[in-house]
Amino acid sequence: MSKTKHIHKYQKIPSRYSSVWSCALPDCNHHMPKHMEHMIEGKSTICWGCNEPTTLDSDSMNCISELRPEVNEPLCDKCRFKKKTGVTPDLDKLAAMFGEIE
Ligand SMILES: [Zn+2]
Ligand SMILES: [Zn+2]
Repeated sequence: MSKTKHIHKYQKIPSRYSSVWSCALPDCNHHMPKHMEHMIEGKSTICWGCNEPTTLDSDSMNCISELRPEVNEPLCDKCRFKKKTGVTPDLDKLAAMFGEIE
């Protein structure tokens, strides 16, 4: 396991019996044990769209991978907006729509 401190790039991969949130970065074995899964909300992750840090919330955790429909790949507000509408959002407009953006 890498000792380098980083923000995990979470993805949720289904396995035979259940699905587990784990870090997709090379050299990182981090995963969220099933019994601790309720703690994952609010944690930092790397956005699968823009590779910027974002927070896991109920919306980002429900983003489905385009290439692997069985996998959840969290997206930030901006990338979710882009995915939905096909346009890159104007951050000011987005802030007005969704409230504050970090
Ligand atoms: Zn990691
Ligand atoms: Zn993003």
